Amino acid sequence: MTRMPNHRCSILWMLVTYIAVSSSAIAEDKTFQLIAPGSALPRVVSGDRPLEQDAARDFCHYLSKISGQKITVSDKAENARVVIHIGRDTFVDRHVPKIATIRADGYVIRCIEHGDNMHLVLAGKVDRAAQWAVERFLGQHCGVRWLFPDRVHGEVVPERKTITLDRDLQVLVEPDFINRANCGMYFFGPPHKLLRLAPYGDGQYGNHAIQHIFSTKQFQDHPEWFALVGGKRQWWSYGNGWQICTTHPGTVERAVQYADEFFRAHPDAPVISMGQNDGNGWCECERCKKLINSVTPPYSLSERWFHWVNRVAREVNKKHKGKWVEAMAYANTSSPTRFQLEPNVAVTKTFVLDSEFKQAEQWKTVCRSVNLYSYMYGGSFLGFRHYPHAAQQFLKWGHDKLGALSHITECGGDWTFDGP
Ligand SMILES: [Zn+2]
Repeated sequence: MTRMPNHRCSILWMLVTYIAVSSSAIAEDKTFQLIAPGSALPRVVSGDRPLEQDAARDFCHYLSKISGQKITVSDKAENARVVIHIGRDTFVDRHVPKIATIRADGYVIRCIEHGDNMHLVLAGKVDRAAQWAVERFLGQHCGVRWLFPDRVHGEVVPERKTITLDRDLQVLVEPDFINRANCGMYFFGPPHKLLRLAPYGDGQYGNHAIQHIFSTKQFQDHPEWFALVGGKRQWWSYGNGWQICTTHPGTVERAVQYADEFFRAHPDAPVISMGQNDGNGWCECERCKKLINSVTPPYSLSERWFHWVNRVAREVNKKHKGKWVEAMAYANTSSPTRFQLEPNVAVTKTFVLDSEFKQAEQWKTVCRSVNLYSYMYGGSFLGFRHYPHAAQQFLKWGHDKLGALSHITECGGDWTFDGP
């Protein structure tokens, strides 16, 4: 197993294989021209899924600009010197069977010689992977760079009349981090659906989910599910500043029902969030007090909360084996529990203070996966916010030491100072 020479990407993307075989013993040319003046243009075909079609259009836009030739998406692959497959189609499924089992939104970049034609495949199992493959190909083989969101000044698109590739080019990229959310610095591609260079968050890690699980209807039907604070059941339509009664069995049943509906609607989703709301508002009812005082020292807020998460996770696991239940170790639930979390519970740990690195490692002793939530916009300092090596070390530590599958960063900032 080797890694791509591009170290900036090596944390997020584990390169499983990279084979570019060249035989010096045989004088045979192991390369071919993807595009060259005077040669027939390559034919670009797309998978059926809308994100694959977007990726194909994006690819054609850049290849046209690079080569100075007009390249468009075609609906036929026949009789072409070179066929470029963006996304999954019949040819890709037949000749790259690995595509069906690629991890998450990983992808292949692969040349295949078939009959008299060369084929270049840029595709993954899931639809958005085609866009990631297109961007990596354009970056590594054509020199395109995206710096900030501006089509005139924010990108570098070199002019290359001829693009030559190894006939045996074969790259498989699989992400270590299956969730890579960037909150605040949004550099969209033209269809405004995906961000450039593969940030991707599915909203289920580090999310204040309680406000969706327990909403208007639940408050009307079951006010007793909501936290008793100052003698009153608490609920606001705005989702923060209140919690649920974590010892009412009805809240567990409701959360399990919600998870069941979620996984039926999203069978490929690896995780569901059970994150608490921002702020306080924890229940003061007699049953909650009894639980808190059932141990010495009394349960912390964190323990009260994860006691409930464990109960939900045990039930979710009965119907949805292999799916994660995610909850946040955040603010007043930051400190680790004295008890083990269920094997299907992952926590998303927020990092604000230095002491929280140690806290995250302590969490790992009670649960299988500790995911990362960072605030890369920083605070209390003025300066350029460009620290790729520190960010790389942080992500590698999360992956190696904490079993992290997700990194969310709040990084809203200024493109001029904070850069790509
Ligand atoms: Zn209560």
